[in-house]
Amino acid sequence: MTNPGKIVCVGRNYADHASELGNVVPERPLLFLKPPSAVIGGGEIILLPPDSERVEHEAEIGFVIGRQLSRITRDQALEGIAGVTCVNDVTARDLQKLDTQWTRAKGFDTFCPVGPRTVRLAEIGDYRELEIICRVNGEEKQHGFARDMHFGIEELLAYISHIMTLEPGDLVATGTPSGVGPLSAGDVVEVEIPQVGVLTNPVEELPAAEITG
Ligand code: ZN
Repeated sequence: MTNPGKIVCVGRNYADHASELGNVVPERPLLFLKPPSAVIGGGEIILLPPDSERVEHEAEIGFVIGRQLSRITRDQALEGIAGVTCVNDVTARDLQKLDTQWTRAKGFDTFCPVGPRTVRLAEIGDYRELEIICRVNGEEKQHGFARDMHFGIEELLAYISHIMTLEPGDLVATGTPSGVGPLSAGDVVEVEIPQVGVLTNPVEELPAAEITG
């Protein structure tokens, strides 16, 4: 895919994941942004920064925007979607807990694997039937269903588009089901949506930066 202009993410959108981290599903969608510079494709390496001691996977269903959306109604949402893709909302969990907002924890380079392709909604049918699966080294860690999202994509796109205009190519990541867990150097993490494919990324340490001056 081409790089999205922005990546809008939804936190705590599955009740089972919210509760596993001691949170509740919020009254309104909990939004945050990941920077486009974090995007990598399938096969590219997730780099663990020395700043964090606990980097975790979050398998998510991603919706790629197909047309400009500003202040739309829920009824207009589905026609604004170009397609569905797999997203791994890689998160430095320890840094997320230290900061009151999550730009640092969610924003490191390589923390947004996306792919392996975008499949049109017309080929998928009812998106609520989509499954989202995460495996680490072949072992299943997460397995959720879009129908368990607290806020569906129609509600999310209406809500987001009343805050910011969504542009073609923008990506909306809709939250992760339960089962998030740590990634270590040498791991291989897979995010699968059966109708889309498998997004596979190896994990390595990022060497500590040399300070030059
Ligand atoms: Zn997430």
